[in-house]
Amino acid sequence: MDPIEREIRYESDRDPTFADEIRAMPGCELMDRCIQCATCSGICPMSDAMELTPRRIIELTRNGFKNDVLRANTIWLCTSCYQCQVECPKKIGITDIMYALKSKAIESGAYGKKFTIPILAREFYAMVKANGRVSESRLVQRLFMKTQPTRFLGMGRLGMKLMKTGRFSNKVERMRNPEGLRRALEALPTDGRKRS
Ligand code: SF4
Ligand code: SF4
Repeated sequence: MDPIEREIRYESDRDPTFADEIRAMPGCELMDRCIQCATCSGICPMSDAMELTPRRIIELTRNGFKNDVLRANTIWLCTSCYQCQVECPKKIGITDIMYALKSKAIESGAYGKKFTIPILAREFYAMVKANGRVSESRLVQRLFMKTQPTRFLGMGRLGMKLMKTGRFSNKVERMRNPEGLRRALEALPTDGRKRS
């Protein structure tokens, strides 16, 4: 049975260091204050579609159930609207925790393969790092190639038509000197922690 679906969890499912890793990330420090009131789940515009509601994400995260939270679609459906964070009576950085979990999921490759968002995030970053700008059409092409290559090849004719009518461009947008931005990006920690 999928670990997300089952209600009973065992001590052996826990990762003993996971909660501490998340607590160490910016905005996640107050996770243990959660009183499980579910205000976050009630106010979240996406919770109906989430495999685990924000309340459950907080509970499972602080108890170290790494696989459950990193494999849930919740972290990818979060739109970063911050409503839960604003309304939380304990001022918990729920949106920041969602970001931290996304970052962990990308780092460990734990996300479900059906989710295109992590691939989009990676390609977006690579493009900004290389050119200083995003070329939307190129980004979409890369995303399709990595997620639905057969469908992408089938769309070749449509792409040519759109290009002829000027509604689609294959032009690469580039900053005059992306080197400074590249250095700044390389100086950032990749695990979401602040540099001391
Ligand atoms: S609103 Fe805050 S305290 Fe209430 S369940 Fe959500 S995270 Fe916990
Ligand atoms: S920030 Fe994410 S989890 Fe919080 S209410 Fe918005 S969509 Fe839901």
